[in-house]
Amino acid sequence: MQVNEQIIRNVVAQVLAEVGPMPGNGRAVATPSLTAPSLTAPSVTTPSVTGKHGVFQDAESAVVAARQAFEQYRDCPLADRKRVIDIIRRISIDHCEELGRMEMEETKIGRLEHKIEKLRTLGERTPGVEMLETKCFSGDHGLAVIDRAPFGVIGAITPVTHSLPTITGNAVSMLAGGNTVVVNPHPAGKKVATEGVRRFNAAIAQELGIDNLICVIAEPTLESAEALFKHRSVALICVTGGPAVGRAALRSGKRAIVAGPGNPPVVVDETADLDNAARCIIQGGAYDNNLLCIAEKEVFVVESVFDDMMAAMRRAGAHELNAAQIATLTSQAIVKVGDDQHDAPGKDFIGQDASFLAKAAGVAIPDSVELVFGETDEHHPFVSVEQMMPFMPFVRARNIDHAIDMAEEYEHDFRHTSIIHSRNVHNMTQMGRRLDTTLFVKNGPSMSALGLGGEGYLSFSIAGPTGEGVTTANTFTRERRCSMIDELRVI
Ligand code: NAD
Repeated sequence: MQVNEQIIRNVVAQVLAEVGPMPGNGRAVATPSLTAPSLTAPSVTTPSVTGKHGVFQDAESAVVAARQAFEQYRDCPLADRKRVIDIIRRISIDHCEELGRMEMEETKIGRLEHKIEKLRTLGERTPGVEMLETKCFSGDHGLAVIDRAPFGVIGAITPVTHSLPTITGNAVSMLAGGNTVVVNPHPAGKKVATEGVRRFNAAIAQELGIDNLICVIAEPTLESAEALFKHRSVALICVTGGPAVGRAALRSGKRAIVAGPGNPPVVVDETADLDNAARCIIQGGAYDNNLLCIAEKEVFVVESVFDDMMAAMRRAGAHELNAAQIATLTSQAIVKVGDDQHDAPGKDFIGQDASFLAKAAGVAIPDSVELVFGETDEHHPFVSVEQMMPFMPFVRARNIDHAIDMAEEYEHDFRHTSIIHSRNVHNMTQMGRRLDTTLFVKNGPSMSALGLGGEGYLSFSIAGPTGEGVTTANTFTRERRCSMIDELRVI
């Protein structure tokens, strides 16, 4: 009888994993014939011994396991990749309530109904292998086919604002591209990250016989992120988060895909449908209590319709705060941080409900109110800071040029997302050119740019700084060319 060495290795790895950590160095002891992985030969298939179903205690064992999984996965046909994606989609949809609730209980930010909806829509709408583009050149000298190949193991860093959703979207795109992934989640979202990854892998292992396609570091730290950045078996890095992690990834010496911060401005001109603008600003700005990087963060309205716009916001159900209430809220919700004492959102206020913000401002409003808003000047910290809480500052602009000037200033060159409400195509064109953002939305809520109410597709990693845009399977692949000289052009 033929004995498949890989199957034996997998069985041994699984048994060792079930035996659990051993005293001493904290790892189970490998059998003498299955010695520690060699970093100089990452393709050698030595079993991981510290984890199971993708859950690992440290970066080293997670990367080794992900590399082993990649060695198996690379031999699978595209049909198997589709099966893997279908499994992730199914779990994301079927378990969205339970996992969404878990994320809410752990992170304590955002809105439960949106935590659940994010997982469900990611399962439904994140594109898979169909995004992989093949190009072909056919001519007198034969054929050249350009295909998309995997990188191998990808190191991913994910934010607390969407812990499992980012992992889910990344996993679909990265695995559709033929890669495996090791995730260093935000420490404040590590439990749901770990549980989601465990469920994905358990189901994939049962159906395909490959474990650890998606690995997670169960106790993530800045050091474990750094270890991922430096590991020679990590071929590509993808970070989703604020400015510090983006800078760290770009310093790593590896290719990095950076889905960085935003501070999306909204411009409203005198031609806009103000009631529609109000509904859209509430829908986008209040979604998950303003945690989305694409979410509306400040609004510049031309003077001639400013008061009408504020009335439209009130009609649409938002609650207006007066100047004194805004000042009271600001004194608690915006804090000074860092050596330069710059303004930042207070941790206790990020992702909290509008009623919580109103209470801090000294006013009681029903929990059903999704957004509080009010007039500020352009120098107000709520305008310049990515607040990630459902208070929306509205600023008067002298005219459209002034509104676009301020929008450009407070987008801070993140080139992430901007939004205009207008029926004037010239104004739209001017703003689109000036702000040069990755997403530019006209007459809709911010999320319509991700296929949620508009055309296009969904991802929770939008790579502005490094230019890949809304990430898909294609983003996580390398171009390879296969040339046949002088033959196989059969026409
Ligand atoms: P964060 O920057 O505090 O953390 C993001 C991740 O980076 C976490 O896992 C954190 O542990 C890690 N990290 C932070 N500093 C690091 C460093 N120096 N080295 C290694 N790892 C480091 O952000 P957050 O509060 O979790 O998430 C909110 C931020 O993420 C916002 O700025 C938001 O705009 C951004 N975001 C962007 C996108 C996008 O697609 N562009 C999507 C979601 C969130």
